[in-house]
Parts: sequence; C-alpha cells; structure tokens
Amino acid sequence: MAPPTILEGYVAAMVLSGVGDAMGYKNGSWEFCHSGSAIHQEAKELGGIEKLKIKLPNWMVSDDTVLHLATAEAYMETKDTKDKETLYRHIAEKYKNGMRDMDGRAPGPTTMNSCHMLKPLREKGYEIPFNPRGGGCGAAMRAMCIGLVYPKPENLSDLIADGIESGRMTHHHPTGFLGSLAAALFTSYAIQNKPIEQWGAGLMDTLPRARKYIKERGHAVNENLKEWGYFENAWKNYLETRNITSGKTLPKFPSDYGIEARDKFYKSVSFSGWGGSSGHDAPMIAYDAMLGSGDSWIEICKRGILHSGDNDSTGVMAGCWFGAMYGFLGVPDNHHKKLEYRKRLEKAGEKLFNLALKGKEQQSIISCQTEGNDETEACSDSSQKSPLFAHDQGISEESSKTNEVKSTKTDIVEGGTSESKDSEQVDKAEPVEVSVDSSQQTTNQDTEKKVTEKVTTNV
Ligand SMILES: [Mg+2]
Repeated sequence: MAPPTILEGYVAAMVLSGVGDAMGYKNGSWEFCHSGSAIHQEAKELGGIEKLKIKLPNWMVSDDTVLHLATAEAYMETKDTKDKETLYRHIAEKYKNGMRDMDGRAPGPTTMNSCHMLKPLREKGYEIPFNPRGGGCGAAMRAMCIGLVYPKPENLSDLIADGIESGRMTHHHPTGFLGSLAAALFTSYAIQNKPIEQWGAGLMDTLPRARKYIKERGHAVNENLKEWGYFENAWKNYLETRNITSGKTLPKFPSDYGIEARDKFYKSVSFSGWGGSSGHDAPMIAYDAMLGSGDSWIEICKRGILHSGDNDSTGVMAGCWFGAMYGFLGVPDNHHKKLEYRKRLEKAGEKLFNLALKGKEQQSIISCQTEGNDETEACSDSSQKSPLFAHDQGISEESSKTNEVKSTKTDIVEGGTSESKDSEQVDKAEPVEVSVDSSQQTTNQDTEKKVTEKVTTNV
C-alpha cells in the first residue's frame, strides 16, 4: 500500500476521529460500560474488531464529532483567522448551534451549560467565567483539528491561543483547556511526523508558553494559575512512568499490559476513577495507545478506543492522530466508508489542508522543531518517501519492532485467562490521586454528573 500524502493524512485525521468516537460510543452502550473485558468480548461476538460495521443506526457519532466538526467548520467559514475576535465568536456560535444536534449523542453537562452562556453576537461573548468544575474532557475532544490548521512549529503561538480560547469557551479550568491544547498540539506533531516518544516532552515545553499566554491575556488569571498544577503534574508523572520525560528514550510498558492491566492503569491516572473523562487523561490515554500501537489500526482500537473509560473521547483523539500519521493504513473499509457525517469530515480535512498549507508547502515536508533549541529542521529530506512516513527510521523503527513484540504479548493475555498482575510500572503509575470519595470531587470537574446525565440522555 502506497504511503499517504499529507492531504490523505488530513482527510484520514478527520474521518478516523469520527470512527474512534462512533466505535467508542456504540450508541452509548460502550462509552458507559465500565469493563474493557466486556467490551472486547462483545466485539468478539460481533465477529471481531475488524468486522465491526461502523454506520447508522447502531454506531452514530457522539457529541465529540459534532463539536469537532463545529471547530473545523468555524475555521473553514472564517475569512481571516488572524482576526481572533471574529474567529472566536464564530467558534462560539458553532458550539451553540452544535447543541441542536445532540439528540442521542450524550453531550456533557458542562458543555451544555456553558453553551447557554455564550453570546457570539457580543464583543468577547465567547468568554465565560472561571469554572472550578470545568476540568472535563469536553474541550479536548473537539480541538484536534486546530493542529491541522496550525501544523508547523512556527504556528505554535496561534495553536496555543486558539487551543486555550476555544477550550475555555466551555471548560474554563486549566485541566479542561490544557487538554484542548494537548489535543491540538499532538495533531500538529502527527502531521509533522515528530517521533511519538517526543510528543510528551514537547507538551511539557509548551506549557510555560501557555501559562505566559494566560497571564498576558488577563482573563481570570489568578484562578487559572491557582489550579494550573494538576494537569502539569499528572503529565510529568505519566512521562516518568513511561520513561519518556526527555523524549530521547523509548517508552517502557509493563510486561503484562493486556485489557485488564490497561483498564487499571487508565483508572489510576484519572481524576475520579473514569479514565479519559478529564482534560488531562483523555489525551494521555490516547497518547499511551499511540505509543504502544505502532502503525497498527487494530491495536489503536484495542488500546485507545475499547476500554473501561470514556472511550469515545480517547477514541476521537487516537483516531485523529493515527489518521494524521498513517492515513487509512490497515483500516477496514467497514470502519469508515459508511460513517455518519463522513462527507463533512472528509471535506473538513480537505479544506483545512488548503487553509493551512499553500502551494509548494502542500507537496513538501513539514519541518519539526529540533530538540533542545529553537532552530527548525526537516524531519526528512526525502521527496520520494511520503513525509507522513518519514519518521519510520532510526529510533522509531526500533520502537515499531518493540511494538510488534508487545502486540503479541497483549494478544496472549487477551486471548487467555491470566489475571492482570501489577508490574512495577503499573505500581509506579499512580501519578494522580484517585478519589473515590465523591465529597472530594468538588473542585476539578463534574465527571460523575456527566455519567449520570449522559446515561439519562441516552436512555
Ligand atoms: Mg461523546
């Protein structure tokens, strides 16, 4: 199979984000199933992951895709995206309009409440007050395409500004809107072909600039700075657990990292026990899946979509990043050809490609930042090889081999009856306090409420 062009990467990023969402959602029954094993068993009974027919009526896209499209279409319809006031008001308008298309799609309560507050016709009508419970993943799940608009390292200031502002239109809490920034940033890295093990270090390098932006922007500065540490610490601990703090080493996974071990780990990094439902851990779980899946779409489905957590939101990100890097490589037609809103997603990919890259840029490679200094250099100088595959050399090739071994191990565990045992890696992976006492869940987000309300909506 020929490697994908950058355009194919853009289209696949949008389309596969929708597939990850629809597969993880399964009309609500998988999103709210708190057992990865039960989900994998059901997938097996349906003929296996490869055979799933992701189409209406049983596999509608959820709120994630509706609002991801809203973000993308706001950029497509705004004449001058440098005019931030106009752009942000249009994004706010699209989010409000998106609420009309939520029947059966289980939108989160924070998003719904915040959208009521948005006044797109007024100056700065996209701003809402700080929300101490606004740390959910609702901002992150719709922000990936911002990285398609700003795919180059020199676009980073715009990516930071738009990632934060679009995020805090509904989730005005650092845990929420830094998730939005991470989702956008990692998409730009995927387009750049930045080696995946470097993405986390790149995020940590970007956070001080995001903090500076918050200070200079002057909106709810003190409240945001006070709550800043949670996201940053969670990521710092995660990167240490995977041994990729510097971005110069390969990721380490536990020897047993099958379905149950992954569920346990995802839970351990969550805020309140539901992995992937917050701004910090939705991109983290999707990233973990990217690190461990190589270029295998089915492995991405297993690790990043089919688990006990908020799997449509981790799936929407993992699907997007996979598509941006590998196109439709190994993706069965029945996963994406008849996906709901496929044509809109495809068109969004094409339009954002034309918006982001001009003339020769559309054919040439996108440079990525050199580790440790401000210079940029090409990730690859090959004009023959697709830039989307340029990183498949050196360290990443090694990584790919490692992943093959890991995949085999995972299959053995998944196919057998072995209980997941905690390796040292998993034991160390307790970077975030997991609160089981609901009385403690007052400051960060409304995860539990979201579960209840989503289930209610679905019913
Ligand atoms: Mg959803």
